[in-house]
Amino acid sequence: MILTTEELIKLPKIELHCHLDGSLSQKFIERRLGRTVKKEELGVSKDCASLAEYLEKFALPGQCLTNETGLWEAGYDVLETMSREHVIYAEIRFAPLLHVSGSMGTKQVIEALLNGLEKGKKDFGTEYNVIVCAMRHHSAEENYDMIRAAHAFLGKGVCAADLAGAEASYPMWEFMELFEKVRKLGMPFTIHAGECGDARNIKDSIDVGARRIGHGIAMRGEPEIQRKVKEKGIGIEMCPISNLQTKAVKSTEEYPLREFLNAGLLVTVNTDNRTVSGTSMTKELDFIQKTYGISDEEILLLLRNAVETSFTDDDMKRRLYRQLNGA
Ligand SMILES: [Zn+2]
Repeated sequence: MILTTEELIKLPKIELHCHLDGSLSQKFIERRLGRTVKKEELGVSKDCASLAEYLEKFALPGQCLTNETGLWEAGYDVLETMSREHVIYAEIRFAPLLHVSGSMGTKQVIEALLNGLEKGKKDFGTEYNVIVCAMRHHSAEENYDMIRAAHAFLGKGVCAADLAGAEASYPMWEFMELFEKVRKLGMPFTIHAGECGDARNIKDSIDVGARRIGHGIAMRGEPEIQRKVKEKGIGIEMCPISNLQTKAVKSTEEYPLREFLNAGLLVTVNTDNRTVSGTSMTKELDFIQKTYGISDEEILLLLRNAVETSFTDDDMKRRLYRQLNGA
């Protein structure tokens, strides 16, 4: 039996890799900008040429997140979008330093987003946590200060840190010291690694204590690294549609989802950027079903993997498993 699109929409889903700025609705962006926007301004076309073209689409949403109202409404907006396709738990990530201004420090930026998310949870029922992204182009000091400020919210809406930004220009070894400190601070973390950089970035991320890897595509055909990932129970956050658009892989045949599943890795499937990629969890699951012959059992496995590797507490994990089992 293969779940139909309608059944996939109704299926309770968990999402672990979703960027706030790339996932805001057109309605939200138009309201914040006070003008209508074309779909092409917000999302990539089918023939997106490169990562550079992909990244251009983050300019407009960035303009909507320059004050507390914008961040509050963004949190509310993303949970509304997710709840429509029955995402029951989401880890939403953003880079607080990109929104800091004269009137808003890191603490205010995080608080504003959390308040909007909290209201969204009450109204729409989707549970959430926030992952704060350090950016590769920011200094180690700026990134660490941000993570220390975010640490005050750990277990109160914030669940982990991440490293995002231009992976090809900044290898992971430059960030080992920073994440050594983050680990000592007691802040769990995931790292964008092996998306548009090489397998060494994945190895280094594992060595420094990452509990999850964002994308991880570069360990395709690398059984040694895969074994290590499996041994340590590290989650792999895959985002198939985004990875194809940014040309992280050249073709659907090269995409290692099936390879990683066969290797027994804790793979999850995510959207990355709902609006920029024009995707949803339902579309991702529908896509992997049709393209890679992912069975219903495997879809449920991907969702259970998401619960297992999520950064939430055991109580929430139990509740999520229960909801998945009832599906
Ligand atoms: Zn990402």
